Amino acid sequence: MINSIETIVCNGSSHRRELHRAGWIIVDSSNIIENGYLEIENGFIRGVHKGRLKEKCIDHGPGIIMPPLVNTHLHLELSALKGSMPFDKGFEFWVKTLLEKREALGKEKLIKEARKAARQLMESGNRYVGEISTLGITESIIKDSGLKGVFFHEFLGSNIQQPWFIQKTDSVSSSVAGHAPHTSSPRLLMALKKCSGLDGLPFCIHVAESDDETRFIRDKKGAWADFLTLREIDWSSWDIGSKTPVQYVNDMGLLDPLTIVVHALTANDADMELLARSKTKVCVCPRSNWNLHGKLPDIKTMIKKGIQPALGTDSLASCDSLNIFDEMAFVQNHYPGLDPAIVFSMATINGARALGFEQITGTLSKGKKAEFLYRSVCIKNKKDLFQRIISND
Ligand SMILES: [Zn+2]
Repeated sequence: MINSIETIVCNGSSHRRELHRAGWIIVDSSNIIENGYLEIENGFIRGVHKGRLKEKCIDHGPGIIMPPLVNTHLHLELSALKGSMPFDKGFEFWVKTLLEKREALGKEKLIKEARKAARQLMESGNRYVGEISTLGITESIIKDSGLKGVFFHEFLGSNIQQPWFIQKTDSVSSSVAGHAPHTSSPRLLMALKKCSGLDGLPFCIHVAESDDETRFIRDKKGAWADFLTLREIDWSSWDIGSKTPVQYVNDMGLLDPLTIVVHALTANDADMELLARSKTKVCVCPRSNWNLHGKLPDIKTMIKKGIQPALGTDSLASCDSLNIFDEMAFVQNHYPGLDPAIVFSMATINGARALGFEQITGTLSKGKKAEFLYRSVCIKNKKDLFQRIISND
């Protein structure tokens, strides 16, 4: 349970040397130390050791020291919509309702609930995020809360209103995102991708989420075509037809190691090969997909193809918490046979890699930031360790 997690953050500017001991230390999914301790100096990990300590140390107890969690995809600005969205009337209706409710709530309420959600993320050990904001209102919320990761200002439609602000830092980077291939013009998407790439920053885009999207890009008609026309988005020049959403974004040159494709829910075998071959990062949001579409991304095939998916929650408009511990527990319950150590990597290093923070976090190896969680669970057997962590009980 969340209350059983004690979160410790070492101050990066501290010059003190500290030793932190616990019953177990997870350096990464294949390196676990029983009765070990972390050696920390100047806010960075100087070493991970095994054995009894004669020096003074901070002894956390018999539980587990582990890396902080990474929520690779969320929208804090939609937190005020929690519990008020319809999941049973189709995706198009959900989108329409979201736009109406977001407008009706007003910025002040959206900001207030986003702040609250950011605080909860910090407290529950979800320290790194890939935050998407269409309204551009959550950058300061992330910075003020102490969360780290990438703030993606998201754009859609066909207007290109530059300049866009991008900046790479080791706390909160700023980048840009395109909403999706069925909501944004190729010109806009390619310009955004080019802009983020100038500073080696990740570019984020929702791809292959819904059947409406797949139908529109394959057949150039359907409910989504009507929806765009209604919103005065002119799609007549888009190079769609007889292709999947993944093929379409590949044709635009959007797939490479700096792109995060979010969802890949309707991706077929050939799509997954394209994603794997281009080394594109993939972020899955299984709870959101289950609520909105009644199906789940094919994580097992992704892994077989060599993709290392990260975990995200999407927003509180499609999911009941932003906590990656909850997402891991859901994955455990809905993907029988999936190795818990892989699920743990999805929630830590895979997300850190997708956001470009793998030199800083994602594992507790030497040289990384001394930022970690202590989870006070009792482990009798090493082989149960990841199972206990991801089950969130
Ligand atoms: Zn999203």
